[in-house]
Order: sequence, then C-alpha cells, then structure tokens
Amino acid sequence: MTITTLPTLSYIDRLTTFADCWPPSLEPTTRQLAATGHICDRPPLEALEEGSHCITCNKFVKREDSVSALQSSLFGSNQESCYQGLKLHHAACTFLQNRIPIDAQSIESDLRGGQALSAIRNLWERRSKPQQHLQPTTHRHPQPSTLFSLPTELRLQIYSQIMPSMDRLTPITTLSKQSIRIVTEMGFSKTGPRDMTKINLLSTCRAVHEEALDILFTNTTYKFESTKLLYLFLRHIGEHGRALLKYVDVACGDREDPIAFSLLASCPKLKGITIRLRRPVLILPGSPLWLLDGVACLLELSGLEKVTFGECKVREGKLPKYLDESKADAAIVRRELTRPKGSPGGVRWVDGHLDI
Ligand SMILES: [Zn+2]
Repeated sequence: MTITTLPTLSYIDRLTTFADCWPPSLEPTTRQLAATGHICDRPPLEALEEGSHCITCNKFVKREDSVSALQSSLFGSNQESCYQGLKLHHAACTFLQNRIPIDAQSIESDLRGGQALSAIRNLWERRSKPQQHLQPTTHRHPQPSTLFSLPTELRLQIYSQIMPSMDRLTPITTLSKQSIRIVTEMGFSKTGPRDMTKINLLSTCRAVHEEALDILFTNTTYKFESTKLLYLFLRHIGEHGRALLKYVDVACGDREDPIAFSLLASCPKLKGITIRLRRPVLILPGSPLWLLDGVACLLELSGLEKVTFGECKVREGKLPKYLDESKADAAIVRRELTRPKGSPGGVRWVDGHLDI
C-alpha cells in the first residue's frame, strides 16, 4: 500500500471497503468517512480495532469515535464526543482542510455564545434521544388520550394549527458567518420576541412529538445557498429528521459537496432535489463534470421522483452554472437519481474516473 496510488480510489471504491466490516445501521457514518477520504481495508488491524483510516494522511480513527463525530446531532447530548471525534485526520491533511465543514473552534464558540434560539432549531434539539422509533409509536403503546381515537389526518390538522408554519420553500441560514447554528431565514430576520409556546406541543408525549415533527418535512422544500448549510442542516435534524426529509434545493460546486451529498444519500424518504451547480473554482472551464468527487457522492442518491436543475445566483467571485437541462450530463444525473431505490448505479468508475 503506497500513499501515491491510493488517493486515486474513487468515492465508491472507498465506500466499498466498509461494506463487509461495518453494520448497515452505520451507513451515514461510512458514507461520510468515504467522502472525507477514509477507507477500511487493513485487516486484521482494522477488524480488531474497529476503525478506518485516511488514504492520504493514514490517520486511524476508531469506529465509535467516527460514529459520535459524524452521526449524532451536532447539539445533542454528546457534544463532547462530537468535538473530540472531529479529529479524523492529521492537521496537515488535505482532506481535513477541504472536506469537513465544521471545525472544533466553531463548535466551541457556538457553545459559548448561542443565546439567540429560533423556535425551529430549539425544536430540533429537543429530540436527541436514541433513534429506534421510526415507526409511529401509536402502534406500540395503547394511547389512553381521546386525541388518538381521532383519525390521523385530523390529528395532523390540529398539529398544523399549533406548530410553527414552514413555507413551502424554506431557506435555511446560519446565525452568523462562522456559526454552525442554523435557523430558518424567516426566523433569522424576525424581530421582536419569539413565541416559544407553540412547540410545547412536542413535549407532551413521544407519539405527538413524532407525528407533529413529520409536518415540518411533509410539504416543505428546504433551500440552501451552499452544501455546507445543507450538511449542517442534515446534522442538526439528526437521524429522525433525516428519516423524514422529502425535498431539498441546494446550490453546490463547493468543497463540502462530497460530505453533504454522502449524508443526503442516507435520507430514505427523499423525493426531490433541485441542483444548482456552479463550476467549482478549481475545475477548468469545459472539464467533465464527472471529475468531481461531489458528483460521485451525488450519484449515490436513488429513488427520487423529481430532479431539477436550477439557476445559480452569480454573485461576485462566484462562477456560472455548470449543469443545465441542455446538457447531456443533466440527463445522466437525472437517470441515475431516479433509478429504483437502492438499485446499483448505471455509472461505472475506473481508476476514479467515469466510464460511460
Ligand atoms: Zn487525512
């Protein structure tokens, strides 16, 4: 194993090295590890110690540390282990510099500061319990309340009257440029006192909590001006939120594309995506799309019903749109993302490059 040849391993190659060693429940972690340059291919060492290592800097990280760093909610009960586990690479590793959208410093400053809480983010933080409850709880425990004798549709209507309402298109932003705390743009720009009583509904019991939380995802497209924001959002909503997420609209072409799309690929109910891809800074005009690691991670999404290629805002220093309906590449991306859920992709990678 030499360091000079390994970095040519594609995302898929790296992901495959985890397949036989890590359980499927850890898929969100293995995808993110592969996206950030990790592989798991040194038996018996890695089998014994249960971990993975970076193909560039060789840093070995134990499985439990990666899971707490990459699969938990960023503001859950285990902030400490998340903070520790971020050290997935050596300090000078290029993967560390380029791929992880959060660093220990921003977590630290957010833990110190952060009094400005929006109702929605507070709400996400409230569920940080273990996540074995993806089926509606009502089937597991008989509910004495008459609320549960109502048809589900009626209950959902009641919740929707009480819960903070999300627009059909809800942009997400961060509290400040360096912060990793996210809020809805609506919550961010709102002045005056916020009504925090609405979300008391979620504290009543777990069954109400789960049904009511579903409302936030059913008809809402969450919109992100970068894949970094998308990634922070996916981490904040945690495993339960990721299990409910239906629609996203994201501007990409950034260094955080691989880790964000690799985690998005672990959202089982995702139905639709709007991709607004700028030409990444380091890619020359006219270069094939398929050179991008982020695109390899994007192609792991499957079972979508709607794939749209949207406009990019061309701001100062930003590059123009890289992918639109007129390009043959767009048809390939759409074909791949709409293939049946979980079926193998039609794209083959040879030495890290696309073979069409
Ligand atoms: Zn590394």
